[in-house]
Amino acid sequence: MDKINCRYYVLGGGQNYLEDNSEIWFAVKNENAHMLSDDVYDAFVLVPLYMAMYYKQDLHIHGCVSKRLYKNVMNYLQRILCDFSDDLSRVDVHVDGFKESEGEHNIIGAGISCGVDSLTTIYDRYVHEDDPEYKINALFLFNCGTHGDYGEKSEQLYQDRYAMNKSAADELGLPVYQVESNLHAFTHPMGPDPKAGYLAIWSCIFSLQRAIGKYYVSSGCSYEQVLSFGKKYHDHDFADFSETYSLPLIRTEQLELIIYGCQYERTQKTEKISDWDLAQKYLNVCVPQAHNCSKCVKCLRTLFALDVMGKLEKFAGVFDIETYKQHSFWNKCDIVLERGSNVFKCDDYNFAKAHGFKLPSYFTAYIYLFPSRLKGFTKRAARKLMGERLYESIKRIVKH
Ligand SMILES: [Zn+2]
Repeated sequence: MDKINCRYYVLGGGQNYLEDNSEIWFAVKNENAHMLSDDVYDAFVLVPLYMAMYYKQDLHIHGCVSKRLYKNVMNYLQRILCDFSDDLSRVDVHVDGFKESEGEHNIIGAGISCGVDSLTTIYDRYVHEDDPEYKINALFLFNCGTHGDYGEKSEQLYQDRYAMNKSAADELGLPVYQVESNLHAFTHPMGPDPKAGYLAIWSCIFSLQRAIGKYYVSSGCSYEQVLSFGKKYHDHDFADFSETYSLPLIRTEQLELIIYGCQYERTQKTEKISDWDLAQKYLNVCVPQAHNCSKCVKCLRTLFALDVMGKLEKFAGVFDIETYKQHSFWNKCDIVLERGSNVFKCDDYNFAKAHGFKLPSYFTAYIYLFPSRLKGFTKRAARKLMGERLYESIKRIVKH
């Protein structure tokens, strides 16, 4: 691995940050420059570590880092990463020295995406939290991989999502701080975002360590789900694989990251926020776009829980209920068939049963989904028999 420079920027200078990939950088708005932790290199540890383990080269960070973070990385995190992906190998990490970040560290933060997970965190630890030492006082939105590959297209989606989240934060009376980075230019070539992308998000939090002392990281799964289904996310999604025990290691002497929401199943989170007027106005869970499509896997997952509770109409402002109804039976059949192997389908199934919500029988679901499953099986078999390149060539010819 070649030497990578590390840099902090402030936005607004007119530079085009999207063109230079020779260094890892973080950028904030000019008025937030004082929050950047330019005295320590903690923000430049996690992604270079993953790269070193992936490319099988030792890592030398030419700067000082938190001793606690370093010890946790060397003693524990590398083992979890090796368990997570067979592509990763243990490496040596050298640093110039240890240093604790300066600053006030008086911000208690959380991310805002207006998804079910982030809204649950805000609902519990802001709306219903009275203890000032644990009450959220600022929100954050990062651009480091969750909005698409590094480039202009993901930048536009990020800005669209920021505008929507800013409106929600304004209604809550909380500031939203942004961090832009090019970390996804380095993480995405090693695999889809859920592999190393969480390390990028946690690095963005570290970049503002001068200001942040506590940060609630919203979980995707419950404690029990990570125990029961964690291995299914091997080499696919690092958070769902291990967040209950990996995230508590991602901390320094001044900054504590708290995994929040593991005490709930996802359907319980949806139930918790379902009567909240802000959620009914801003809930946004869609995978591919800034507005809910009402038919992708995450939209269907959320709408199903609302359907079970009889609260679909309460969310008619953010979802197209007719589109959901067109895909609803397919989704119910999928829940019935996949409940044993998919963590969220299992949750949906149990939630429906607990509420006495009628689902199709296994036989009906199997017959209904058989044609599409056969199509999928045939496609996979053809790909295997012909090879990827020949299959794609024939597909292009047939399409034309
Ligand atoms: Zn969607």
